[in-house]
Amino acid sequence: MDRAAHFRPSRTRRPQPLLSVVVPLYNEQETVEALWERLRAVLQPLEAPFEVVLVDDGSHDATPRLIDALHQRDQRVVVVRLSRNFGHQAAISAGLAHAQGQAVVVMDGDLQDPPELIPQFLRLWREGNDVVYAVRRSRREGPVRRLGYRAFYQLLGWISDLEIPPDSGDFSLMDRRVVDAFNRLPERCRFARGLRRFLGFRQAGLVYDRPARAAGRPKYTLRKLVGLAIDGLVSFSSSPLRMVTYLGLAAAGLAIVLTAWVLDDAIRHHSAPQGWASTLIVVLFLGAAQLLSLGVLGEYLRLIFLEAKQRPAYIVAELKRHAGSHRDHDGAADERVSMAVAE
Ligand code: UDP
Ligand code: MG
Repeated sequence: MDRAAHFRPSRTRRPQPLLSVVVPLYNEQETVEALWERLRAVLQPLEAPFEVVLVDDGSHDATPRLIDALHQRDQRVVVVRLSRNFGHQAAISAGLAHAQGQAVVVMDGDLQDPPELIPQFLRLWREGNDVVYAVRRSRREGPVRRLGYRAFYQLLGWISDLEIPPDSGDFSLMDRRVVDAFNRLPERCRFARGLRRFLGFRQAGLVYDRPARAAGRPKYTLRKLVGLAIDGLVSFSSSPLRMVTYLGLAAAGLAIVLTAWVLDDAIRHHSAPQGWASTLIVVLFLGAAQLLSLGVLGEYLRLIFLEAKQRPAYIVAELKRHAGSHRDHDGAADERVSMAVAE
């Protein structure tokens, strides 16, 4: 299909391809209305059909009610309700599985991903890119978080088997082909930005300044953030395992050198190292190295365990979509699916 014709204001009544915007939401009652208004302001002038897939990731504030109201008000709002909180990455996967567009945008619900960037995404997509991802030039976040993000992306770039562009988050546009491939990936641990890179196709970055959260508190606690970072590292690199081997070899080498030195001292000078400080240091060092190695092994074991159980990454409790909403705008009954377990 000729992408150049897509999403241009056109006078002819040629059917235009659908654009989907997927937004995961967890307790975002403060921003959800503003999000919809800004999305509409950006998408309306494109004169192409669009749908906004709002994924309610088990919110327990007014979010479910607010997005249901949006769905009532506007045909183009699709609601995917998860049966509980499955986490940001799982919510993105759920949204991608239900998006029907020819091009699919993924963005956060707190307006840290400015919707005004979408036309530029579309321009790069029309130029033939299959994936357009936003790259943060700056962030409005506290110094501790900023340092954490930096360390994470450096470490990821250093040890990862894939070249994941630094500071590219989940905010992106994907072509239908890429979304289909994403949906077919069998893994349960879904680190979207890494998987997106893994899929390949033609990818392009788009630099932007990341604003602060519009309202509300970050839904990622530091613990969740560290968890996400470890998942990302473990899913996309096996080099920590190799490093453990090197650590073991280095410790063994050190032990051999020390033994030789002590023996030499004992034979030639009839002396032995004195004091317990040296012993303590060696014991502590080895203890730490062993615990660290067990931890690294444990992380990989955890992933294997999660994948082996084959439980779905998320469960959809309810799906609300106006039938044929993006084809004819005449409204129809809701399509409700109860407990549709994600394939
Ligand atoms: N989110 C979610 N489930 C969660 C945590 C977050 O769907 O368990 C959503 C949240 O509503 C927001 C997006 O993921 O739309 C990003 O979350 P947040 O702003 O807290 O992350 P940060 O910007 O700090 O990385
Ligand atoms: Mg945020």
